[in-house]
Amino acid sequence: MHFQPQPQAFKDKVILISGASDGLGRCAALHYAQYGADLVLLGRDRRKLEQTLSLIKPFNTQTLAIDFDLAHADQTAYQSLIAHIETLWHRLDGALFSAGILGELVSVIDINIHNFDQVMNINVRSQLLLSQSLLPLLLKASLSSLIFTSSSVGHIGRAGWGSYAISKFAVEGLTQTLADEYHASSLRVNCINPGATRTAMRAQANPQENPLILKTPEDIMPTYLYLMDDSSQSVNGLCLDAQPK
Ligand code: NDP
Repeated sequence: MHFQPQPQAFKDKVILISGASDGLGRCAALHYAQYGADLVLLGRDRRKLEQTLSLIKPFNTQTLAIDFDLAHADQTAYQSLIAHIETLWHRLDGALFSAGILGELVSVIDINIHNFDQVMNINVRSQLLLSQSLLPLLLKASLSSLIFTSSSVGHIGRAGWGSYAISKFAVEGLTQTLADEYHASSLRVNCINPGATRTAMRAQANPQENPLILKTPEDIMPTYLYLMDDSSQSVNGLCLDAQPK
């Protein structure tokens, strides 16, 4: 996709990003800040979140970085997150859920149920809890965009991708269900399939692969910018491939 927002297109927008401490989430944070957005960054590793913050600093936007471990966040953590955003901005104009884990890549017959629960906890359960918490804030904005992150194995099952593939099918189900529930509102709900991209997760999934043959997070940012920009206001319930074949 070739898309470039207007300069300062996201000025006066408040955007939350999960998985802001690395990979695609960090890169999206940088790009949204570059176009003027105020940001709420979620991450479980303060040191890595601080690195994201230092990259964003030159853009001089208001940024709140919150320690938020999706594996262990309880009701109090979600309530405190909402309270922070309420106090500072009273609304959210966008949210990108980029955090995710791969788990063990094994055949279905070999899935360890403990590992399955871990993957479903981060990739599905926490996406649901975040959505439920943030929907009231997203509905307060005049136009808002909620973006989930799927995968090629979330459209078509692939042998050996076990719990991860199952979790990404669920993410697409959540996207479509929410999109239909809010189709008459100011909120649009979509997801992105990044495609093979040069990050730590891809290296974990394909350790033999030469990462230099892969697109970088930077290369696929136009899709992330488009779905967050008001240009996509009529797009709802879709999964966009950031690297279409
Ligand atoms: P990375 O591993 O680089 O980033 C994953 C992010 O999720 C990190 O910020 C990580 O935090 C965060 N995260 C993991 N577990 C938790 C947790 N318990 N609490 C809070 N944050 C957590 O991967 P990518 O950037 O590649 O992945 C981003 C999304 O894109 C994922 O949903 C992934 O499934 C999807 N995707 C990626 C593809 C690729 O080729 N890269 C292809 C298809 C889909 P921390 O820094 O602390 O580890």
